[in-house]
Amino acid sequence: MSRTVYVNGEYLPEEDAKISIFDRGFLMADAVYEVTSVLDGKLIDFEGHAVRLKRSLDELEMAEPCTKDELLAIHRKLVADNGIVEGLVYLQVTRGSDGDRDFVFPSEDTPPSIVLFTQNKPGLADSPAAKKGAKIISIEDIRWGRRDIKTVQLLYPSMGKMMAKKAGCDDAWLVEDGHVTEGTSNNAYFVKDGVIVTRPLSNDILHGITRKAVLRMAAEAQLKIEERLFTIEEAQGADEAFTTSASAFVMPVVEIDGVALGEGTPGPIATRLREIYLDESLKAAI
Ligand code: PMP
Repeated sequence: MSRTVYVNGEYLPEEDAKISIFDRGFLMADAVYEVTSVLDGKLIDFEGHAVRLKRSLDELEMAEPCTKDELLAIHRKLVADNGIVEGLVYLQVTRGSDGDRDFVFPSEDTPPSIVLFTQNKPGLADSPAAKKGAKIISIEDIRWGRRDIKTVQLLYPSMGKMMAKKAGCDDAWLVEDGHVTEGTSNNAYFVKDGVIVTRPLSNDILHGITRKAVLRMAAEAQLKIEERLFTIEEAQGADEAFTTSASAFVMPVVEIDGVALGEGTPGPIATRLREIYLDESLKAAI
């Protein structure tokens, strides 16, 4: 069935939605995005995504396409019109187009392009993948140096997922100068002797909306957290590991580069954090 999507001020059937071939999102990956999950027909942490979108736009000196209230209204209308109970809302803002290709940014009065669409994902919360846990491979992190900006330059993360798939695994963790940065599309953690370890925020990783919420909830649950660099070997020796992202919440990790963690099944802390996160997020959903 055709979805209703949003393009530059209009709600349209997906087959009628059009963007210029000169759009800089298409030609230069000159664009940022957000993915907000929907549970029970409501948006999870919309505020967090709106704040990060503004930050990404500011860092790239890109104009805001609309106000936060307008953005919320668009999200809600798409969720309602497409009957999404569990799923995702994808949002992309690009620097637009002045009708030609040029490395130089177009003039400041060029309007940004904005596109939103929904993805229906029944069973997103009660995911079989989370019950099984993810098998991870490690690969070198060769992405650019501003991973804190959520740009659509996703070719290498996409290649990383394919490398994992070819190796019979689910995802890849990226390693730079011997230390894990993050997953292809998630933040990475391990747990040893009850302490949760994850890399500190910097330009090297995306400042995950789910990371922030999960660390807050972990602290509230009296769990110990250490934000520091760590290696693959250290994670392999952990009791358990997990990743966080807006679309997969807390995902247990059961194997890293062929080494099983703990019992080789989702660990108790990852499982508990997933439950707490889903519970709390649903209560706060709008
Ligand atoms: N790191 C990367 C590279 C990602 O692509 C994502 C998900 N977009 C995350 C971390 C997790 O961020 P969030 O919790 O905001 O989805």
